[in-house]
Amino acid sequence: MKKDPFKLGIMGGTFNPIHHGHLAAAEFVREEFKLDEILFVPSGKPPHKHKSDIASPEHRWTMTLLATGTNKCFSVSSVEIDRRGKSYTGDTILELKEIYGARSDCYFITGADAIAEISTWHKSGNLSELAKFIAVSRPGYKLDMSKIDSRFHRCTYLVEVPALAISSTEIRERIRRGKTIKYLVPEIVEKYIYKNKLYQGV
Ligand code: ATP
Ligand code: MG
Repeated sequence: MKKDPFKLGIMGGTFNPIHHGHLAAAEFVREEFKLDEILFVPSGKPPHKHKSDIASPEHRWTMTLLATGTNKCFSVSSVEIDRRGKSYTGDTILELKEIYGARSDCYFITGADAIAEISTWHKSGNLSELAKFIAVSRPGYKLDMSKIDSRFHRCTYLVEVPALAISSTEIRERIRRGKTIKYLVPEIVEKYIYKNKLYQGV
């Protein structure tokens, strides 16, 4: 039996690859906001990212599954990967509300960099009525309301999480240069990356 209302955290991302910055932020928010579950939602065709250097949706989904497997409150959704065309946050939240029930309380978690883009997101019009937004601190990005569209002020929480200056971009670059990524990603993800020769191209 699911709790009513069920408190669902949604962590969207490219997860190219997933790293300890994502996992630590999600776990911290889960505890602080007493969320019942955190659903990681790897994007299918990220509308904001360049095509090159993106591992296939299947690889990103598998790495996310492997990385989250040791936390019983974490799970992974393929809604965005299964959807044809580009993925938009509003569509994803609506689809998840159908799966988890209309009464479920959705908390969309983003880093300080991603929340700033929120008002530029397509169909961001009714987003502020669909979910609450949790913007977490991230080294190198300022976390303040002035960066966030005023429509979202009412439903956005700013949260300082333990700082991990890790990014997927840096991990990909390190792999390309033959540098270690140990302790930046879970060991099982590191093994998956090497086994499948991901991110090694120029
Ligand atoms: P890339 O460098 O390819 O953009 P990324 O590390 O930013 O990768 P994303 O998949 O783009 O990872 O991020 C998914 C979500 O996680 C975003 O909301 C992002 O702001 C947040 N996030 C990523 N890394 C961190 C981190 N180290 N601390 C807090 N939040 C993070
Ligand atoms: Mg990013």
